[in-house]
Amino acid sequence: MAGEAGVLKVIESVLRFPADRRLILGPGDDCAVVRHAPGRELVITTDELVEGTHYLGRFASPENLAGKLMRVNLSDLAAMGAVRPVACLAGAGLCRDTPPVFFSRFIRELKREALRFGISVAGGNLARARENHFYMTVWGEASRCGLVKRRGAAAGDLLLSVGPLGEAAAGLEILKRGSRAEAGKFPGLVRAFWRPRPMLEEGRRISRGRLATGMLDNSDGLFSSARQLAALARCRVILSPGEGACSPALRAYCAGKKKDWRSYAISGGEDYGLVFSARPEDLSKIKNALPRVLVVGRFERGRGAEAENLDGKVKSFEHF
Ligand SMILES: [Mg+2]
Repeated sequence: MAGEAGVLKVIESVLRFPADRRLILGPGDDCAVVRHAPGRELVITTDELVEGTHYLGRFASPENLAGKLMRVNLSDLAAMGAVRPVACLAGAGLCRDTPPVFFSRFIRELKREALRFGISVAGGNLARARENHFYMTVWGEASRCGLVKRRGAAAGDLLLSVGPLGEAAAGLEILKRGSRAEAGKFPGLVRAFWRPRPMLEEGRRISRGRLATGMLDNSDGLFSSARQLAALARCRVILSPGEGACSPALRAYCAGKKKDWRSYAISGGEDYGLVFSARPEDLSKIKNALPRVLVVGRFERGRGAEAENLDGKVKSFEHF
């Protein structure tokens, strides 16, 4: 299999440790889960930001890099359900020409962000590198029964989303064009790219109500997220986001650019909301727990993913 999916398949087939009873959940989900103490499993994830891959140096401040690094990692904890974040380790590879003040600003913002989310930065690593990159490992505690895995959807389930859709992709476009006027006109879209809100409270509510059959955080776009849930569940997923999926800011941006908001909402990555499958009979409970939740599709028998009303114009982002 080609592409990112092929690489992930190799990782998942090689990194198997069936004899290790302490490993509760290995590669393939949003986080790893390791036995820690009774009723308190350790939930761990890691992620990084690479210059040239995830952002461009010309539009990245150290504060925004620190904020995004913290938030994309915490988002993976949120995607596991009821997880209490505890602490993180952070590191950086820095080019020779990166001024020392860049790193001290990064570190200061990292601390502010840690305090904002109630955790500590417990250590890290620093090295010279050919391109700037920033990485983090974050962990939290959870009880095993409070965890929500990716796998679990069934034919007949609904596809739901909570959090922004397509806003970060629009924000990244604005940043790449480098127009201050445009960035000033759409501050919410730019913020959606740099400061996604980890949906820890929403993850907690979904877990407590046992509202999701499968869940992940939306890092590579709704189409890609839905396709992953469907593949794990051996189902087919049909995406059909309604007008409510488009925020007023994205609507205004798309109107100005004469673009279809659906292509941002479906293909745009880095939104970091939660995408999950759920039984249709739980929908009213879900709406009570998460007033801003959206039904964005459904699971059927079969395989693959499709988006309605898009004339086959669906694209989704791959890293490899
Ligand atoms: Mg994730």
